[in-house]
Amino acid sequence: MSLLIVGSLALDTIETSKGSVSEVPGGSTSYCSLAASYFSNPQIVGVVGEDFPDSVISLFEDHHIDLEGMQTVAGKTFRWGGRYAGNFDDRVTLFTELNVFETFKPRLPDNYKKASHVLLANIHPGLQHEVLNQLESEAFVILDTMNLWIETAHEDLISLMARVNMLVINEEESKMLTGKTNHKQAAAELRKMGPEWIIIKKGQHGALLFYEDRVFSVPGLILDEVIDPTGAGDTFVGALAGYLDQSQDHSFDNVKLAVVFGSVLASFCVQNFSVEGITYLKEEDLEERYDEFVVMSQF
Ligand code: AMP
Repeated sequence: MSLLIVGSLALDTIETSKGSVSEVPGGSTSYCSLAASYFSNPQIVGVVGEDFPDSVISLFEDHHIDLEGMQTVAGKTFRWGGRYAGNFDDRVTLFTELNVFETFKPRLPDNYKKASHVLLANIHPGLQHEVLNQLESEAFVILDTMNLWIETAHEDLISLMARVNMLVINEEESKMLTGKTNHKQAAAELRKMGPEWIIIKKGQHGALLFYEDRVFSVPGLILDEVIDPTGAGDTFVGALAGYLDQSQDHSFDNVKLAVVFGSVLASFCVQNFSVEGITYLKEEDLEERYDEFVVMSQF
């Protein structure tokens, strides 16, 4: 088993109704790989500047994340800033500074090229294509994206969808791509574009999994307090990919479990700023949360 993750490595500045933090670890790859590390040993591809903190590298190493494909180059790390409205549902991007991402060319070390699972985390779809072009294996490919790429890199994204097995997308992006607000109709349209597995994320309200004529719904856990929803989607898909890689089983029942573990990790993510909520969790923590999902969904 091996899971390759490509996406952004960032320093984030975040404001929520519970406080604010600046220059904290972020980026889709950070969330995805930390979440995946509870199930698998992810290999990451990405770029950082010389200002990327050693403490974050140590954190990745503690979580057994393979950093051979992470390039450190002269210049500043990618930076992103966001602010949430009181209910956490609406977010405005305050700034995006590409910095070292402007000239980034993903390069896969040889031992990454035979990955059995690939997670194309949020990053420009052109770069996601470049990663797939370097693969030497028939990997199960999971694609995450964002509204920005639907608007600015539409053609690249559409051609990429024909190359992936699973698409993970939120409600707004699904509507942007298909014009449909009905999730079943939207999933049918998205499947025509390539991926046989579709997951539509509904923020704090959970997620829907579509495969053939089957649907599975996982609820959002009702938490005492949310601090920072940044990275919840990345955490969800990271844990899901890690779970699939560990089990190497793409039956509907097993993908359902992967979706539940994605939700378990995402529920930890939102309880603290940055990646704090998903570091150094114990097996008992995950089991306890899993049981809460079971109790909440049973009737
Ligand atoms: P999410 O809350 O799941 O949408 O993920 C938030 C993370 O995405 C933050 O840590 C940002 O650093 C990262 N991010 C924001 N904009 C971009 C972008 N254009 N490309 C790649 N990553 C981004």
